Amino acid sequence: MSLGSYGEFGLIERIRAQVAGRDDVLVGIGDDCCATMLPPGEVLLTTTDLLIEEIHFRRAWTDFFALGCKAVAVNISDIAAMGGTPRTLSLGLGLPADLCPEDFDQLIAGILTAAQEYGAVLSGGDTCRSPAGLLLSVTVQGSSKPEEVLRRSGARVGDLLYVSGTLGDSALVLRELLTGRTPPAELAGRHHQPTARLRLGQELAQRRLATALIDLSDGLRADLGHILTASGIGARVDAASLPLSPTFRTALAIEPSLLDLALAGGEDYELLWSAPPVAAPALAALGTELGLPLTCIGEIVAAAGLHVVAADGEEIISSKVGYNHFS
Ligand SMILES: [Mg+2]
Repeated sequence: MSLGSYGEFGLIERIRAQVAGRDDVLVGIGDDCCATMLPPGEVLLTTTDLLIEEIHFRRAWTDFFALGCKAVAVNISDIAAMGGTPRTLSLGLGLPADLCPEDFDQLIAGILTAAQEYGAVLSGGDTCRSPAGLLLSVTVQGSSKPEEVLRRSGARVGDLLYVSGTLGDSALVLRELLTGRTPPAELAGRHHQPTARLRLGQELAQRRLATALIDLSDGLRADLGHILTASGIGARVDAASLPLSPTFRTALAIEPSLLDLALAGGEDYELLWSAPPVAAPALAALGTELGLPLTCIGEIVAAAGLHVVAADGEEIISSKVGYNHFS
């Protein structure tokens, strides 16, 4: 049986049958719009990400369940980067004729599983045949108290810079795949099925532990650059303090140029934020509470620009600034 034999409404029904209702969703899948209640006084957060076959993923490298999870997680990561709470998810699907029903079901299962994990409910979308390749467009809406919305623009001179988790793992996996090698098994999930740091973003907002916040989708250099531009300041990052996984560290010892992947590889989906030095003990406690390393990697300075400095004080110039889909 082919996917085409279900027809558009058959596919939508196939998805709708798996989605449970929720009190805050007045109208879900099946009407012209979804209608959602927000907690009183909260502002609406909206984010969209596109995933296009051969640009963002290759079918041969991933499985459909993981792809569905990733499509959700990369959007949730943006909600996390505002300190918000995800509520609804809207799904746009461009489906190629050669996609079989089993793969479609796995993709939807991944999307629904990840949505539930992060507290978002699928509430609408659209499907269409794609002339070539699978296309996923995910929009997540969430909410936040207006005074807790964390922007990129609040960093101040003297603030320390923090990053969650480890950097470069996803980019290392991609590098191995692109060069035809088998990536280290323990890092594969970091690329194919990343975790959004939702709880961390929310705690940073509610405990007022960040002055500016962003998620790392395009690499540390590029995304820190966004904070610096928005805040009108500069930063110094100590390369020796970058948090790296044991596997990445081993690879780096053999091939020092891999440091570029930690600085500019992209798709880390960790959070990067600035905080005044007085927040350090509370951040240490939060890291312990979440079981997630929160590492100070540098500081905000008045002079514009980003300077990544090695242990000997020498500046490290990267050839790569960040991930660019158009290059
Ligand atoms: Mg983002």
